[in-house]
Amino acid sequence: MLKTSKIFLYDEPTVSQIQLERLATFLKEIFLIQVETRESISKLSKEDTAEKIAACRILNPIKPYERHKPTIDEIRFEESLIPKEETSIDLLHIFFTNKLTCTYDYEDFRYHGRALIGANPSIISITGIIEAPAKPREYYIELISHAAQNANIESIKQKYRGDFLEYNDSRLSKIIEGYLLQEIFYFETGEPFCDKKECRLYNAHWQKDLLYSQLESGKLCDKHQQVLKKLVI
Ligand SMILES: [Zn+2]
Repeated sequence: MLKTSKIFLYDEPTVSQIQLERLATFLKEIFLIQVETRESISKLSKEDTAEKIAACRILNPIKPYERHKPTIDEIRFEESLIPKEETSIDLLHIFFTNKLTCTYDYEDFRYHGRALIGANPSIISITGIIEAPAKPREYYIELISHAAQNANIESIKQKYRGDFLEYNDSRLSKIIEGYLLQEIFYFETGEPFCDKKECRLYNAHWQKDLLYSQLESGKLCDKHQQVLKKLVI
């Protein structure tokens, strides 16, 4: 049985490929669950959201993000995002954003862009989907060598067009579904990812793999179809 009784999806109006109602139908069909769509948090929040989000900016990308005691304002901001009566554990809130979400990695002491920050509430970053999985190695090499010669960068981009996602890419619509599946599997089972490339739960580090898992294959592997079956009984 699903832990979740209802999912709330929050729009990011600057990304037309999200199509919130279509995603709601997709989730209802797969998980047989209630889904409510909402406007973006910046429209819902009573306070000045932009200013508050700006306060979370990474000021120094070299230095690890330091946790600090939240101020009264920050707590009020959290409260203004999700009303108290909707913070129950069986209600899953998923926000879409065009901002790049990052986490700090202590192994290489760097920030890494992330497409998905799984928790409740969780965040799916469209910029993260475009920027976090790497583009082909050859593309970077050509770009760097041509930049050194002041050659036409646009012609290199043209050569690799289609091999990776770009802003306003129509393929984003379908790819976003895969990240939603990963978030819900994480919330339900504690495991968001699969090691099989043909599964939509595959944690792609390369754009090529992301396009393969979500578009060419576009399904869950046998194991995860079974997990899903048990979840929705
Ligand atoms: Zn799988």
